[in-house]
Amino acid sequence: MTIDDDRPDLPSAEEALARLMAGNGRFVRGEPTISHPPREVLANLARGQRPFATILGCSDSRVPPELLFDAAFGELFIIRVAGNVMSPSVAGSIQYAGTHLGTQLFMVLGHEGCGAVQAALAAKFEGKQERSRIQTLLQDILPGLDDIDPQLAPRLQMNCAVEANVRWTLRQMIESPEGRERMAEGQIQIVGAVCEITTGQVRLLA
Ligand SMILES: [Zn+2]
Repeated sequence: MTIDDDRPDLPSAEEALARLMAGNGRFVRGEPTISHPPREVLANLARGQRPFATILGCSDSRVPPELLFDAAFGELFIIRVAGNVMSPSVAGSIQYAGTHLGTQLFMVLGHEGCGAVQAALAAKFEGKQERSRIQTLLQDILPGLDDIDPQLAPRLQMNCAVEANVRWTLRQMIESPEGRERMAEGQIQIVGAVCEITTGQVRLLA
């Protein structure tokens, strides 16, 4: 693996995950430590970034990763797209983070009440049609919903679908040639998580 320059202080995947979850704990308790960065911090960051984790999250305005993980400027490399779906451009961003920034931890972060997942369920079970480009986005979600029981109560069905969608994105990352190779090296971790929208609590998927 090639990283742009020497980054001896980059944390391992385990350390990065612990740091993320500790930050989420501070956020949930209402004890965040991050405030507006002083000008010298921004000036320092202008020289380069060294984020400790990469997060693929949803565009939903209620799940901003920096706030949820009490993280500062420069700490997280974040890709946000409705439904936290995989696509060629998303894969390129992830590859960039792994290759040039050297992050060891990759998190797919879904959330309760995800509108994109809800729309995919409506397309699947009710034949509902969205406008063309939204429909294209839903195609990235639908393969992950194959095992969702149409008889489930709506709320439970949504929760299952949100998790299934995170797992589908994870699977695409892990089963890519590069994902397999990097996982085999044993240094990176790819984890799935779901954010509880009413509290901001992030739960790791087993
Ligand atoms: Zn969403």
